[in-house]
Amino acid sequence: MLALTATLLSAVAVSAAPLAPPKALAAPAEAARKALVRKHGEAERSRIDRGVAQAAAFWRPADGDGRAFEAFCAEQFLPAGPALDATFARLEASLEALDGHGVEIDRELSRWAQLDLGPEMPVDGLLDALDPSAHVTDDLFAGKVAFVVLLNFPLTTLDERLARGDAWSRREWAEVRLANRFARRVPAEVNQGIARAAARADAYIAGYDFFMHHVLSEEGERLFPKGKRLLSHWNLRDELKSQYAEPGGLERQRVIAKLMERIVTQTLPAAVVNDPAVDWNPFTNGVSPAPAGSLEAGEPRAKVEPAREPDTRFATILASFGAVKAADPYSPSTPTYIARSFELGREIPEAKVAALLEEVLGSPELRALGKAIAGRLGRPLEPFDIWYAGFRPRAKRSEAELDRLTRARYPTAEAFAKALPETLQRLGFAPEKARWLAEHIRVDPARGSGHALGAARRGDEAHLRTRVGRDGMDYKGFNIAVHELGHNVEQTFSLYGVDHTLLAGVPNTAFTEAMAFVFQARDLEVLGLEAPGPEARKLEALNDLWATAEIAAVGLVDLGMWHWMYDHPKATPAELREATLRIARDVWNRWWAPVIGVRDTPILAIYSHMVNNTLYLPDYPIGHLIAAQVEEHLRTLPPGRALGEEIERMTTAGAVTPDLWMKNATGEPVSAQPLLRAAARALEGSRGTLPREAEGPARLPRPRPRAVSAPAPAAPRP
Ligand SMILES: [Zn+2]
Repeated sequence: MLALTATLLSAVAVSAAPLAPPKALAAPAEAARKALVRKHGEAERSRIDRGVAQAAAFWRPADGDGRAFEAFCAEQFLPAGPALDATFARLEASLEALDGHGVEIDRELSRWAQLDLGPEMPVDGLLDALDPSAHVTDDLFAGKVAFVVLLNFPLTTLDERLARGDAWSRREWAEVRLANRFARRVPAEVNQGIARAAARADAYIAGYDFFMHHVLSEEGERLFPKGKRLLSHWNLRDELKSQYAEPGGLERQRVIAKLMERIVTQTLPAAVVNDPAVDWNPFTNGVSPAPAGSLEAGEPRAKVEPAREPDTRFATILASFGAVKAADPYSPSTPTYIARSFELGREIPEAKVAALLEEVLGSPELRALGKAIAGRLGRPLEPFDIWYAGFRPRAKRSEAELDRLTRARYPTAEAFAKALPETLQRLGFAPEKARWLAEHIRVDPARGSGHALGAARRGDEAHLRTRVGRDGMDYKGFNIAVHELGHNVEQTFSLYGVDHTLLAGVPNTAFTEAMAFVFQARDLEVLGLEAPGPEARKLEALNDLWATAEIAAVGLVDLGMWHWMYDHPKATPAELREATLRIARDVWNRWWAPVIGVRDTPILAIYSHMVNNTLYLPDYPIGHLIAAQVEEHLRTLPPGRALGEEIERMTTAGAVTPDLWMKNATGEPVSAQPLLRAAARALEGSRGTLPREAEGPARLPRPRPRAVSAPAPAAPRP
């Protein structure tokens, strides 16, 4: 028994996943195992047992009968040695070609829709929507390449990757990534069901507008101008934030907060959503036809129905839950969506994610900051103050001045491309490295605000998409372009600099965002201007803590709701509504009530991504923590160590687990401490008051552009 344990531990990884073969394959799998041990000897037994079990778990009748399965195992199993090495190398090269050319084809098909290449044709959108890689995994299973992988390389659980990943060689890590690509075989109809549910949820969210001129105050006054149409929840939240700087803003903030409460409790009249002809007082919940003079141009007067929205929000969430749950049986090692989200997606155990979020929420720094904000506002905090947005440093230069500077320097996207070597040198890369990077990054004029599209095979280039107006690149566009450049540099190093292309990339999107923010924070240095001073950095640190705590609580609510749905799979929308409100109030009472001083608000359940982006919300606070950790490390480099060298070293570790990547990068696993330390330093010496808010022109709030870092999914807006 002891000897067996030692053998098991010395194997690359023996899957702890309960991989049982389908009944009809039990006997053929047993026969295949016996035959392979006879042929290759006892030394291969543990690999044979694991490989045959893995392949059998995904084999379906359409792949062949029991005899065909036995024959496949006999032919394709390879003992450790040169033949296995050669097979591994062929698979790695083939997948690089498949993925890399897939990205290229996709990029070519979408170029007319995405790039500023003159008038659009009706066919552009259709070409953009084509996804030539959509069925690649199905084809790899049907063509049995996936079974060669499953028969010869180890499927692992996250626990195994965390417990043993430190000791694995790079080749072992690459094998783990190779096999994990086939940890799921979800039938096309299940995937289509997921896509349909997601599309319906997107449509529900995209049509959830409020015409604010018709949303009245408690006293029945109109506080918002005609034509202000706000989408829940992003526009509502951003409006709420902007009202901190407006006279009379507090009244408008209270109206928005009440409106949000009506949305999450689903106590609003259905007639007030997306209808500019209905007046509504969210305090009394009274509705009436809007008087003719208040109507938006061209809108007919409505027939007003006071009936409340029939829990559509929660029915939509349940539909998405049902759709993703249908994939559970096809993912034997991660048999719930929650497990897939943590183990295959972010690769940080759920318990650790929750602990990190709670560490931020329970920190003394957060309470101290709450007191300081109340002091600054000169009133007790209210629940909506979780969106407090007053951390703006004094700007040395006006935006117009910066616009003039960037427009002169970058009249076209081409000019920005030409300047790349110099730009990269100013960011801390050696001249030769800056030239090499610039050769691997193409700059394209984009229709949208910009994004970064990485390559997925060596020989191809990363693409930086940037918007340049007729009169040149304005400062906002430049700031975003520098952010995207950070993605492109990470994408280029982590493709060309890794030793195995199976390990190309970073652990998850939070890491590429962290790199992009490192670049973006240094945009003034690229322009040859003075970097933001310590005061600005302090405000940034306080803003980071407040924003992280806000979204951390939202992440906990999302997580709680998903567990409740798995515990109550037959729940009705009304039951889910009550459960979600209870969870939102519990999370609030535990973490935010001590900071704000008000109990029992359900406001944390307002996030639209709870409805249309299944269990994504915990990624945002984790992203803040990772960015703070990377930033702290890069701000405290030893003398003589250039920023560029360090970024190259960090990003060539590739797609290992987040903790392992971070240990390699900074010496510590993923941690909340750097963010809290930065906030503590900012609070220190301020004796309960914040650094003074600046008069005059404020610096632009940091935009959060979309990252398109293939093959990782794009990060949606929080
Ligand atoms: Zn980004």
